[in-house]
Amino acid sequence: MKRIYKYIIGVDLGATNIISLLVSLNGEVIARDTRKTMGENGKERTISQIVNSARNVIGEGERSGIFSKSILGMGIGGPGPLNSDGGVIHIAPNIPGWINTYLVKELEDELKLNVFLENDANAAALGEWWLGAGRDVDNLVLLTLGTGVGGGIIIDGEVLHGARHTAGEIGHTIIREGGLLCSCGNRGCLEAYVSARAVVKRTLTAIYRGEETLLTDLVKNKLEDITCKLVYDTAREGDSLCKQVVEETGRYLGIGIANIVNLINPEMVILGGGMAKAEDLIFEPVRKYVREHAFTAAMEGVEVVPAALGVNAGAIGAVAYVLKKKGLLKTINNFDPNLLNTFKA
Ligand SMILES: [Zn+2]
Repeated sequence: MKRIYKYIIGVDLGATNIISLLVSLNGEVIARDTRKTMGENGKERTISQIVNSARNVIGEGERSGIFSKSILGMGIGGPGPLNSDGGVIHIAPNIPGWINTYLVKELEDELKLNVFLENDANAAALGEWWLGAGRDVDNLVLLTLGTGVGGGIIIDGEVLHGARHTAGEIGHTIIREGGLLCSCGNRGCLEAYVSARAVVKRTLTAIYRGEETLLTDLVKNKLEDITCKLVYDTAREGDSLCKQVVEETGRYLGIGIANIVNLINPEMVILGGGMAKAEDLIFEPVRKYVREHAFTAAMEGVEVVPAALGVNAGAIGAVAYVLKKKGLLKTINNFDPNLLNTFKA
C-alpha cells in the first residue's frame, strides 16, 4: 500500500490508565504515551491528563518530522453509557464524578483538533477489526475479559450501536435466572460468572465450602491475595479445584457466546483482556461449549480466537473510528487514500 503521510491520534480512556497513540493512516504507531487517569482527583484533572497525553504524542511526532497540520484528528474510546454523536459521556461507572461530560467539546477547545468519541469496547472491537485478529472478516464480536466484561459487535463492517448507543453489552446478558449478583444490579449476568472478580469469588466460595486446593498454601492462608491470574496459573499446575473453576468459566462463557453466535452469526469471536492470556486453558472449554450450545448452521465457520493488539486495541480502534466517521474505512480492504481530500482537519 502507498504510504500516506497523514496521522490520527487515538486515545483509550480507562479507569486506571490513559493510552495515547499517534498512528499513521497505514496503521503504523509513531508515538505512544501512557499515564494515570487520576480519576480520584476530579474530572478536570483527568481531562488535563488526556490533553497532556495527546500533546506528548504530538510533540514526539514533531521530533520525528511530523507537522501538527498533518494530524487529521483524534479519536477517543471512553467508558459508557455515552453518546458518540453528542460527544458526551453520560456516566463513567469507574471514574467518579463523570456525569454528562461533554468530553469532545472540552478536548476540541483545548487541542484545536476534530475529536470523535466512541465506547471503549466498541473501539477495541474496531481496533481488532482494522489491524488485529479480525482484519480479514467483517462480522465479529469482541469480548474483553477483565475486572468486568465488555463487548463490541461489528456487523457488515459497522459497529452495532443501537437506539441509545448501548448495544454490545454482552457481559450483562443473563445466563442464569436468579443467579449471582452482578455489578449492574441484576442477577445472573455473564459478567457475574466470568469476570476476573467473579472467578476469584467462585474460587473463594469453593474454599469456604471446604474444598482443598494448593491456593491456600500459595497465599499462606491470606485468601484475599488470591487473584484470577493465580487461579489460572494454579490450574495449569494441575490443581483440581482451580481446573474446575476454569472449566466452569469456559462453560459459562461458551453459553454466553453461543447465544451471541445464534443472534448475529459472526465469523469470529475475539476474546481480549487479561483472562484471554490463559490461552488453551480457557479457549478449549469455551470452544467446546460454544459447539455444544450454538445453532449448527451459525456455528459452522465461526472461530473463537485471542485478541491480537493487547492494551493498544482501544486506542488503535479510536483511530479506526475516526477513519470510519470520515468514510475512509467502510469494510475490510477498502481503504481509499483518494478520499483523504474529504478530510478537513
Ligand atoms: Zn450485569
